[in-house]
Amino acid sequence: MANVPEIFGERVFNDETMKKYLPKGTYKELKKTIEDGKALDINIANVVAHAMKEWAIENGATHFTHWFQPMTGITAEKHDGFISPTAGGKVIMEFSGKELIKGEPDASSFPSGGIRATFEARGYTAWDPTSYAFIKDGSLCIPTAFCSYTGEALDKKTPLLRSMECVNTHALRILRIFGDTETTHVATTVGPEQEYFLVDKNVFEKRKDLIYCGRTLFGARPPKGQELEDHYFGSIKPRVSAFMKDLDEELWKYGILAKTKHNEVAPAQHELAPIFDTTNIATDQNQLTMEVMKKVAARHGLVCLLHEKPFAGVNGSGKHNNWSMSTNTGKNLLDPSKNPRENTLFLVFLAAVIRAVDEHQDLLRISVASAGNDHRLGANEAPPAIISMYLGDDLTEVLRAVLSGKEYVSEGKPVMETTAEVLPNFTKDTSDRNRTSPFAFTGNKFEFRMLGSAENIACANFIINTMVADVLEDFADQLEKADDLKSAAEALVKKTVEEHKRIIFNGNNYSEEWVEEAKKRGLLNLRSLPDALPLYTSEKNIKLFTKHHVLTEVELRSRCEVLLEKYSKIINIEALTALDMAKKDIVPAVTAYIKELAETANLVKTVDPELVPAAETELLKKLTSLLNCFVKKIDALDKAVVGAKEVEGAAENAKYFQESVLAAMQELRAVADEMESNMSAKAWPYPSYGTLLFSV
Ligand code: ADP
Ligand code: MG
Repeated sequence: MANVPEIFGERVFNDETMKKYLPKGTYKELKKTIEDGKALDINIANVVAHAMKEWAIENGATHFTHWFQPMTGITAEKHDGFISPTAGGKVIMEFSGKELIKGEPDASSFPSGGIRATFEARGYTAWDPTSYAFIKDGSLCIPTAFCSYTGEALDKKTPLLRSMECVNTHALRILRIFGDTETTHVATTVGPEQEYFLVDKNVFEKRKDLIYCGRTLFGARPPKGQELEDHYFGSIKPRVSAFMKDLDEELWKYGILAKTKHNEVAPAQHELAPIFDTTNIATDQNQLTMEVMKKVAARHGLVCLLHEKPFAGVNGSGKHNNWSMSTNTGKNLLDPSKNPRENTLFLVFLAAVIRAVDEHQDLLRISVASAGNDHRLGANEAPPAIISMYLGDDLTEVLRAVLSGKEYVSEGKPVMETTAEVLPNFTKDTSDRNRTSPFAFTGNKFEFRMLGSAENIACANFIINTMVADVLEDFADQLEKADDLKSAAEALVKKTVEEHKRIIFNGNNYSEEWVEEAKKRGLLNLRSLPDALPLYTSEKNIKLFTKHHVLTEVELRSRCEVLLEKYSKIINIEALTALDMAKKDIVPAVTAYIKELAETANLVKTVDPELVPAAETELLKKLTSLLNCFVKKIDALDKAVVGAKEVEGAAENAKYFQESVLAAMQELRAVADEMESNMSAKAWPYPSYGTLLFSV
């Protein structure tokens, strides 16, 4: 068993390592740069680079890479050796401050959503000193932001960093208004809970759909799914447990605070949750976590599926995004404290989030939009596509007291016994936490539950940060002018809650009644990515992002384009895979099985002409008729795919893929699944759902 404190962070150039490897003065300068967010002097950068290289070489590294997060959603890296030739045909190991600070990768093959056409293809990567460098597979990885030659963000990190700065600026203003002179920095924090599936590698390799698309495109329901609810928090099987142990150790070495692990609802589904960190670091670490999960799974003869919906009929995977704001002095700004009614500062921050969520429902929906996640949202296993907030009975009561200008009395409710100061000490929420809410207050943070498991969390977080910062700015503008702060703040909270209370819903988000009720309240219900994405570039949103310098209009439009194109490309790949499987494997398999049935029927007659092979004939008829239907559906899907070429415009194209191609795929699947249910397992060309879900 590993010595956890000893291995923790051993692959990371963290604060402790910096102290050890950097001259005192350089360390201080670097820390100051990190804290103040200023540009690093090149002389300092040279010293830091040298120290990093020494440390990296001592730990087995031979290369370095700028590690960045282009719009593909995954991370990118291009490795350069430290080697530099010397006289006599030898080499020395070199790494300069310039190489640390800036890289110039060719940006032309990354999605840019049209920015490329108007600007030069060259891109820049710029060191983000707020996230530690680390060693992975013999390379020193330097977390960087990625932008075009002319400075447009081409990645997920840049807007996130910009949005964190915005929250800092305006949250600090609020704190100052309330007399806090100590705090010098406010950061947004996130703890992402990562869900995933594990399947046996041998089984996985027999499924083209899993290989090409990460999800199954065919598969009849198995006799047993998740109905017994016996997997959630169930005891962990030895093979999975070995994987989890190995994974924890790997993550700890990368300095990732992997904390919680358990089985999830669906068979073969699991979850890993780290301890929260600032949104920037949490994002980098979540990207690394997903990569490490896949690698560790391979070592155990497993495949880790991060897709949002690998299997129809059982739950898909999400990523709960626990979000809050905290000061450099360690105060959580969403902590209600013992008496939230009297905690005006808390109420101001709470009201800001309420207003932000109501005003920007569209953006929150967009922030989690992906082809994969569309299969989850609203499928009675994940929150619906409608955005609402859960505050729990207690906070709702507190707000009711604010609205009526009364005292908050928590009469008759059991008081929650907590010893820790950080936990809210107001009465225990008797209705318990509402698991169906997309945006739930969970004690001292908000849990945004709509994120897909495969997505980069930067997107959801830069959007949450920006919309909250926008409201905080307005609040600060108003409160700075107030003569009597306490009553002005009370009035502001009251007015905000009055205007935005429609977004608060403590009931069951999975119910049909809620869909109706939400409609009455005028809440948006953007069911799919093609419905949601066009709103990204609305006047309201352009104004929001440009005002706070989080995205320029060009960047916003390009991002929208990239997301729409990606959606269409994914459905196109899925359709081509389905066609390939249908034509090359399923049709031949069913035909062969029908032939076998026909031969058996004939054989029966040769034994005794009086004997009627009714069973064989019936099955043969049934399968032949299904096969005829299947071939028609193949033809329809073929035509739908070809038809996409005629549809101009990224938004129109995405809509077409959803309405025509995806729909045709679903029809094709239905027939295939019916045939699978009526065939011998041996004759079906792919491992069944039962085998996939219970393979480990
Ligand atoms: P659940 O019941 O939803 O699994 P947990 O308490 O197990 O909830 O995990 C919630 C996640 O929220 C953890 O990753 C935790 O570190 C994170 N978290 C706790 N406090 C904060 C905070 N102030 N800001 C952001 N995330 C937080
Ligand atoms: Mg959770």
